[in-house]
Amino acid sequence: SRRELWHIIDRLVEETGATVLLSTAYMDEAERCSSVVLLDQGQILMQGMPEEFHDKVAGCSFAVTSPDVSKRLIQSRLLALHNIFDAIIQSEGVRVVIHPGTRPAWRTAFDSKVRLKIEPVAPRLEDVFVMLLRERRLRETDAHGLAGNKPYEGEDFSPDASVETETVIDVDSVDRWFGTFQAVKELSFNVRRGEIFGLLGANGAGKTTTFRMLCGLLPASSGRLRVAGVDLRKAAARARARLGYMSQKFSLYGQLSVRQNLEFFSHAYGLRNQRHRARIDWALQQFELEPFVGSSSGELPLGYKQRLALACALMHEPDILFLDEPTSGIDPLARREFWRRINDLAAQGVTILVTTHFMEEAEYCDRLLIMCEGGILASGTPLEIKRQSQGEHPSAPVSMEEAFIRLLESAPVTAMG
Ligand code: ATP
Repeated sequence: SRRELWHIIDRLVEETGATVLLSTAYMDEAERCSSVVLLDQGQILMQGMPEEFHDKVAGCSFAVTSPDVSKRLIQSRLLALHNIFDAIIQSEGVRVVIHPGTRPAWRTAFDSKVRLKIEPVAPRLEDVFVMLLRERRLRETDAHGLAGNKPYEGEDFSPDASVETETVIDVDSVDRWFGTFQAVKELSFNVRRGEIFGLLGANGAGKTTTFRMLCGLLPASSGRLRVAGVDLRKAAARARARLGYMSQKFSLYGQLSVRQNLEFFSHAYGLRNQRHRARIDWALQQFELEPFVGSSSGELPLGYKQRLALACALMHEPDILFLDEPTSGIDPLARREFWRRINDLAAQGVTILVTTHFMEEAEYCDRLLIMCEGGILASGTPLEIKRQSQGEHPSAPVSMEEAFIRLLESAPVTAMG
């Protein structure tokens, strides 16, 4: 849908000479503009053509891969290094941006036996955005390191959580009908403990319906659903006690204050007395919400709303976390912070199921399922999905977004399509 919107904008500019002023938190959209103004806290941080932004970080972006350690471990170790201000998971490795004019001590982050491949890649506008904002935040807090960049402290060669084999979500031939309309068709998949599992699909594909069934909020018309070892048909409430749900759009009560939201969710999840108080203190401190404790949650900046929604979903320390489009509209820094928390949770063995329309985030998942008109269009690791999108004639590597669009465009067109 975003691509179609851009075709319309481009046509409008070409055919009518219209001037378009666009505000966005998505840097790939900013990249398509002829001139960009980067704002922070009401001030201009930088202004110019996208190429001028790229020049600021020329020679600073790298793709780092290793056959020996997981991408999450590479990411976490490198982020803790001096002179590296950004590291995000992309494809089978980590995209890293270093401070201009510096040389990070890459090797010191790993055991000497770990093999690393470091290749230069083209700069992006998002690199500059993250650099300028991080520099500014550091100046403000006068901190000496990047806020929150704790390295992963486990052994380099210890198995990471994603190789766990225990199945915690098991979906077997599930159908869901609304009257004569079938929203979910013969759906089967499973998710393992500690895995980050992504559910993707165009609008109306059946993601929310699937989520609602998995949370025990909507019964399946037929098929079998087991969550945390519990059959949802028989004991939905018992399963619900083990899971947390966050939707950036719907989770919070906008007229209640930050504290009231936390109190409400804590009670709703059955916490009482000492544990109730302790978890509220934990949430305020962990998510740095103390300055806003009395503010209405509806008036918080989007990034803080999202933090609060995640804190509410984690009050009862669930084993499984459902995230329904958790980061739509939030800026790259807030998104990075959010995913750092999600990776930490996965490393502790929490299973994460996430829906997103943001294809870069799909790369952060261990495995993905792409839904189309209620069924499965493709499934596998991000790399497997990209390969499936290329059919029998793989050419140059494709981005996740290209893979997604290719797969959707090659799907058989039905009456609905
Ligand atoms: P989006 O990305 O827009 O959130 P989605 O993949 O989550 O889409 P769903 O909300 O699961 O899609 O909807 C799947 C289909 O089922 C849609 O065609 C929708 O109109 C239909 N649907 C969902 N809920 C109901 C309902 N209660 N009654 C009738 N049809 C429904």
